[in-house]
Amino acid sequence: MTKNPDIIIIGGGLVGMTAALACAHKGASAVLMDRQDPGNYLKAAFDGRASAIAASSYRMYEKLGISERLEGDVQPITDILISDGEAGRYTSPLTLHFDSDDAGGGPMGYMVENRKLRAALFEVIKHNDNIEFIAPANLLGFNEEAAQITVRIEGRKDFSASALIAADGRNSFCRKQAGIGASLISYKQKAIVTTVAHEKPHNGVAHELFLPGGPFAILPITDSRSSIVWTDTPGAVDAAMALPEHMFADELARRFGDMYGQVGPCAPRWAYPLSLQMAEDYVKGRVALIGDAAHAIHPIAGQGLNMGLRDAAALADVVHGARANGLDVGMNLDDLQIWRNFDNRVLASSTDIFNRLFSNNIAPIKHARRLGLGLMDKIKPAQSFFIREAAGLHGDLPSLLR
Ligand SMILES: Cc1cc2nc3c(=O)[nH]c(=O)nc-3n(C[C@H](O)[C@H](O)[C@H](O)COP(=O)(O)OP(=O)(O)OC[C@H]3O[C@@H](n4cnc5c(N)ncnc54)[C@H](O)[C@@H]3O)c2cc1C
Repeated sequence: MTKNPDIIIIGGGLVGMTAALACAHKGASAVLMDRQDPGNYLKAAFDGRASAIAASSYRMYEKLGISERLEGDVQPITDILISDGEAGRYTSPLTLHFDSDDAGGGPMGYMVENRKLRAALFEVIKHNDNIEFIAPANLLGFNEEAAQITVRIEGRKDFSASALIAADGRNSFCRKQAGIGASLISYKQKAIVTTVAHEKPHNGVAHELFLPGGPFAILPITDSRSSIVWTDTPGAVDAAMALPEHMFADELARRFGDMYGQVGPCAPRWAYPLSLQMAEDYVKGRVALIGDAAHAIHPIAGQGLNMGLRDAAALADVVHGARANGLDVGMNLDDLQIWRNFDNRVLASSTDIFNRLFSNNIAPIKHARRLGLGLMDKIKPAQSFFIREAAGLHGDLPSLLR
């Protein structure tokens, strides 16, 4: 890249990489930087999570040439089962069943392992002339000037652009440097993530079982495997993480019940502390926040990444709009804040309420939520509303998601 790019994106995680491709798709140029060596973060051991990609987010991946690189690695989600359970008992009699056929057919989303999505994004970026990916790059700071913003990187030349996009995750250095505050609530929960192989097929069904310590999610991935997100109190998670392999396998089998036949872990375990963190603003001067840098939520509804992907798609429209009108991109980022802030706050609050409602064993709350699940299972219009919401098909969608 010989002249200054339109944008510099700090953070080459799933959101930063997607934002670079989305903006490039609309004709903008981007320098993308990550502090990790790609040789490191493309390794299987880097991230054991799998993500539920909502149907609308997946549309963007079709347009950006990512889905074709994921062939054989993507598992459509056709049904969602939600049950209120008790430890050692797999389902309660009141189970809520969402079936994609009730909302006009088509999968509600797609499960893909993060490492595979990251590798696909990386490959497509490598061949995109509008993007220069620099990694490892250790960001020292940035200075905002009258007509541009300049980024200082350890041991490299400075880079200047019209705007700086912070996609550097929940501990965003850029957010702090820009002087944008954030609220933080710790859930006093952690999540264990691992992958389980099972004897019987999952048939594309995602299960969420609510236990007093937190939700236990069984999410279908390819090859008769499921990705597990086991949320519990920090003490219970630390104890489970310390279990020898055979005892951990026994505990998983107990939680699965006999629905999937014989089950056993087939990958290492990871543990993540959980919190809700919301930036006070998404835009300040020439700096805009996207992804977890702007909002990090509980994984209960599998929406955190999807929120970031919608930010990336909205950013592409905002940057495109400014360029098409001959405007300074960095001074015209406010529409991103207007477009995304409200949506993200609504989703973050619903996820927060949902987790608090379901992660406890207080008798009246337990009875009310069981009644709620039972009622909801009978009301088809309410179900299709939730299915369309989970698929990300509601609201004012950016062009790449339509
Ligand atoms: C257990 C669990 C399960 C989840 N499941 C789902 C799901 O099913 N569906 C879903 O939608 N979401 C899910 N999420 C949420 C989702 O994983 C996150 O929202 C998403 O990964 C955030 O991506 P990001 O690119 O914004 O941030 P990150 O993944 O944190 O990436 C930030 C990047 O910035 C880089 N970086 C940081 N600081 C600097 C710096 N100073 N200079 C240069 N680079 C820097 C880092 O190296 C990293 O590559 C889950 C989360 C958890 C914890």
